[in-house]
Amino acid sequence: MGFADSHCHIDLPDFDADRDKVLEAALALSVNKILVPGLSLSRMDKLLSLKRRYEMLDICAGFHPYFLHEIKPSVWPQYLDKMTAFIAQHRQHISAIGECGLDGSIDIPMAFQIEVLHAQFELARRFLLPIVLHHRQSHNELIRMIKQAKHQHRGVIHAFSGSQQIAQTYIDLGFYLGIGGTITYPRGKKTRDAIVDIDLKHLLLETDAPDMPLCGFQGQRNSPTQLPKVASALAELKGISRDEVGQVTSNNYKSLLSSGSIS
Ligand SMILES: [Zn+2]
Repeated sequence: MGFADSHCHIDLPDFDADRDKVLEAALALSVNKILVPGLSLSRMDKLLSLKRRYEMLDICAGFHPYFLHEIKPSVWPQYLDKMTAFIAQHRQHISAIGECGLDGSIDIPMAFQIEVLHAQFELARRFLLPIVLHHRQSHNELIRMIKQAKHQHRGVIHAFSGSQQIAQTYIDLGFYLGIGGTITYPRGKKTRDAIVDIDLKHLLLETDAPDMPLCGFQGQRNSPTQLPKVASALAELKGISRDEVGQVTSNNYKSLLSSGSIS
């Protein structure tokens, strides 16, 4: 057994100098699966080459809201066409659509974010893939869009934070909740309270490395080697063993990725 990191940006330049070492160290700590979100069209070739090089990686294809400033809305259809062709060509290497979603804290018009997310629900439908969703100040609109899309291939709410009621709404819609370093901070109490009574079968572990360092590691590059510490924090919160957290969330990871199985 071991641990599965359901959200880690190991493709970013932050890891270019020592990616081999980081992944070796993660494996040595039994972090044996890592889902790497897509960020933009121009970053997909690198993801694909990493997938071919490291067996422990699973990759996604998608448009992250943070990178939409690279796309003028007038040329968006061309980007979408190219991404669609990319996924069609490499479908057997792609495990999910995303990271996509809605972010109320950035300077990208919400109408454009909604259009881009809607198209990615269509990609998930067309290619029978689960979806990795990013949220910030956007739960209501995100929930509305999931319902409207009638998404059938499950997914994960990355870096879940919110109330127990919102958590339950996502679970009822077939989504896992991604649990990361937030729960290690005193200010993460709201999220801890929301998930303490939620069955482990609905949760996934994540680091969001190189971002979201754990409490006590502020200012440092986050790494998938920190995932066992997230598992420990969740185990402590729920009063169970770290091994149980690792085992159940690893099984959840497998079932997430098989949700969109075409076989
Ligand atoms: Zn991310």
